[in-house]
Amino acid sequence: MPQTILIIEDEARIAHWVREYFEQAGFRALTAADGSTGLSIAQTENPDLVILDLMLPSMDGMEVCRNLRQDSDVPIIMLTARGKEPDRILGLELGADDYVVKPFSPGELVARARAVLRRVNGEASQDETITSGNIQLDLASHSCTVDEQPIELSRTQFAILASFMQNAGRVLSRYQILESAFEGDYSGYERTIDVHIRRLRKKIEKNPANPEHILTVFGVGYKFE
Ligand code: CA
Repeated sequence: MPQTILIIEDEARIAHWVREYFEQAGFRALTAADGSTGLSIAQTENPDLVILDLMLPSMDGMEVCRNLRQDSDVPIIMLTARGKEPDRILGLELGADDYVVKPFSPGELVARARAVLRRVNGEASQDETITSGNIQLDLASHSCTVDEQPIELSRTQFAILASFMQNAGRVLSRYQILESAFEGDYSGYERTIDVHIRRLRKKIEKNPANPEHILTVFGVGYKFE
């Protein structure tokens, strides 16, 4: 049975793509656009983890966190604005399990959620790795090996490859790749993705001119096999 993630976030665009990523990663994902809706969904649906935005209308994330903690020890990951150190500390003091600073990549958020779930479920704490054929990514150390040989990837290349491997077999549009790789914080053209893909292929493909992992889907985007 899939684990349920409750996303409490008033910004519809963010709530939507976070939900999509969790669904693609095999979770059941629910969204609430304000704190009181979030609390009532938390009661009825009993989620395995809550993604909680700090900045919410009427009842803010801190208050939602405090309310959730009154009768539940559901793991909570807080979404906070960049550089708001006191918010993070207060969030953790109120019982949040982790926090992710906006803007973030959905791939990172999913990895953090998995790590928190592993931790609270008492499973051996193991670094998150993704393996696909001869390619292995370690999300914690941001390292990559191809045929067990370490490959140097830039931060962007790593984020793109992680996003591909987490969505293996699915077609990703350039826009989706941009969103995951640049943490929603990009400026420029979708075509810049093609440049990153070309460089990534040179590093991980046996024959970059005839790739077997990162395939072009004409008119749409790319797909990782
Ligand atoms: Ca918000």
